[in-house]
Amino acid sequence: MSGAELIKALIRMGIVASLNQVLDAESARIAVSEMGIVVHAATRPDTEPGEAGAERPADEDDEEQGLPRPPVVTVMGHVDHGKTSLLDAIRETKVTAGEAGGITQHIGASTVEWQGKRIVFLDTPGHEAFTALRARGARLTDIAVLVVAADDGVMPQTVEAINHARAAEVPILVALNKIDKPNALPDRVKKQLSELGLTAEDWGGDTVVVPVSAKERTGINDLLDMILLMAEMAELRADPSRRAKGIVIETRLDRGLGPVASVLVQTGTLRVGDPILCGTAFGRVRAMVDDRGERLDEAGPSTPVEVVGLDEVPEAGDVLLALADEKMAREMAANRDERRRQAELGEARPTASLDDLFKDLREGERKQLNLVLKADVQGSLEALRQSFEKLEEPEVGLSVIHTGVGGVTESDVMLAAASDAIIIAFNVTPDAGARQAAEQRHVDIRTYRVIYEAISDVTAAIKGLRAPTYREVVLGHAEVRQLFKVPKVGTVAGCYVTDGKIARRSKIRVVRDGVIVHEGAIASLKHVKDDVRDISAGFECGIGLENYQDIKEGDILEAFAMEEVPR
Ligand code: GDP
Repeated sequence: MSGAELIKALIRMGIVASLNQVLDAESARIAVSEMGIVVHAATRPDTEPGEAGAERPADEDDEEQGLPRPPVVTVMGHVDHGKTSLLDAIRETKVTAGEAGGITQHIGASTVEWQGKRIVFLDTPGHEAFTALRARGARLTDIAVLVVAADDGVMPQTVEAINHARAAEVPILVALNKIDKPNALPDRVKKQLSELGLTAEDWGGDTVVVPVSAKERTGINDLLDMILLMAEMAELRADPSRRAKGIVIETRLDRGLGPVASVLVQTGTLRVGDPILCGTAFGRVRAMVDDRGERLDEAGPSTPVEVVGLDEVPEAGDVLLALADEKMAREMAANRDERRRQAELGEARPTASLDDLFKDLREGERKQLNLVLKADVQGSLEALRQSFEKLEEPEVGLSVIHTGVGGVTESDVMLAAASDAIIIAFNVTPDAGARQAAEQRHVDIRTYRVIYEAISDVTAAIKGLRAPTYREVVLGHAEVRQLFKVPKVGTVAGCYVTDGKIARRSKIRVVRDGVIVHEGAIASLKHVKDDVRDISAGFECGIGLENYQDIKEGDILEAFAMEEVPR
C-alpha cells in the first residue's frame, strides 16, 4: 500500500492526515482493515488495561488478556432428535425470568444462568444457521451440543453436524436425548459415535456424553455443568474495557423502532449512545433490550442484545463495531456500501476453485485444499475418500472435511464456503438451492462420472503440475413433463426449460433425485414440430437422447458444455 492510498483511505473516513502524522490505534486499524488487510495488535505491556484498553484495537489477539466470558453454545443434530425440545427444556428451567412479567423475547439467543454463571444459547438450532453465519466469516459458537436420540442413533444429519462443527474447530459435547424411551440404546449410540471419532469418556475416549431427556427434564443440570466445565477448559476470555465488537445474529424492521439488529456482543462493552458501524449501516445505539425484554444501558462480552438506532437493516453475520464518533461511522458505512456494490457487479473473487488453486500454488499462496465429497453410493464415496487421503504432497495439506451420499445440498455449499473448500460431486448434481448458493458464494462444484478423472484433477492441482485444460459449464436445465414413444425414433421427452437454455449440441445429463443416471448426447431437439438449434427458459420442447430410452417423468435434464480454460 502506498502512502497516498493510505491518505486517501483516511480522507474517506473523514480524517485529514499528513504522511508522517501519528494516528490513534482505532483509526489506523480501521483504515487498513478497510483496505482488506488483517491487523494483529502488538501487545503493549506498559499500558494500563483500564484506561488504555478503550484505545486498543478490537482484535482477537488480546482476548487472552481479558476476563473470563460466558460460553456461546449452538445445538445441532438430526431432525426430530429433540434439538428444539432440549433448548426449551433448558430455557424453561433455567432462564432467570425477570420476576414480574418476565416475558421471554425472541432475540436470536438466550442467556441461561447456572451455578452463578451465564451460558448463551443460540436460538436457531441446527448446523445450517451455524454454517451460514460462518460462511460470512462470523465465528460465534464456542461449544456445539450434538443432540443424538438414544432410540434412533447416528443419522445422516448427525454426521453432517459433526463435520460442520469440526470444520469450524468447535468442540463437541454430546447430549444423548430421549433416554426415557424404553427402546433407548445408549451403548449402541456410543459405539456409533466412537466410529466417528467421538469416543465417550466411559469408553476410554475424551468426548463428554450426557444422557438427557428433554421430555422429562432429566439430565439437564448435568449438561449445563459439563458446558461450564468445557468453557472453563477453553479459557474463553474477552476484554470488557474496550470498545464493543459484536456479530449480528438476526434482524428485523420494526414499524415503530425502525431497523432492529440482534447482536451478540463478543468483546468490549456496548453502551447506549455509542456510535456504531454495522455492515453498511451506521448510527448510534438508541436503546438495547435483552432476551427478557429488559432495557440495558450496557452490554458486556457474550451478551445478546437487540440494538435500536441503525439507519438501515444490516445482515446476519455483519460485524458491529463501536467507534469513536458517528461521523467516522457514517463515512465508513458509505465506503463499504460502495465496495459492496462493486462486489455485486461481479468483481468478487471466488472462495476457492481448482483453477485458482493452480495459480495460488504456483505463487506459493495456498497451502491447504479442503474437499467436500458427495456421491450416489457409499462405495464410491469411500473409494474417493481413500484415494484422496492417500495423495500426499509435502507442500499442500489435503483434507476431506465432509462426505455424504446424495445430491449436493445448500448445506454442503455453505460448509464449503465457510471452509474455503471445493465440492467434488460424483454421479450426483447440486439441487436448485445448492446451485444458487454456489453461485452467490462462488463455490466450485466439480461433477465427475469417473473416479479416475476426479482423482487426476485433484492430484494435478495439489502437485501444481498443470491447470485443467477443460472446464465444464452448465448451460441450463429442463424438466421432463411427459414421455412419447415415437416409432423408429424411440422415447422423446416432452420438457419444459426451467433455466438457461438447451442447445442441440450440448451434452445432457439425466438427473433423477439428484443422482446422475445417464450422460450423453442429444439425438433430437424440437420445438413444436420443428428442429431447433437451441431453446430458452420458459419454453417447451421435445428432447430425444442418443442411446438412452429410459427417461422418466420428473427427471431433470442438465445441459452442459466443455469449455477450454485460458492459460
Ligand atoms: P428437532 O427436530 O431436533 O428440533 O426435534 P424436536 O425437539 O422437535 O423433537 C422431535 C420429537 O421428539 C417431538 O415429538 C418431541 O416431543 C420428541 N422428543 C424430544 N425430546 C424427547 C425426549 O427426551 N423423550 C421423548 N420421549 N421424546 C422427545
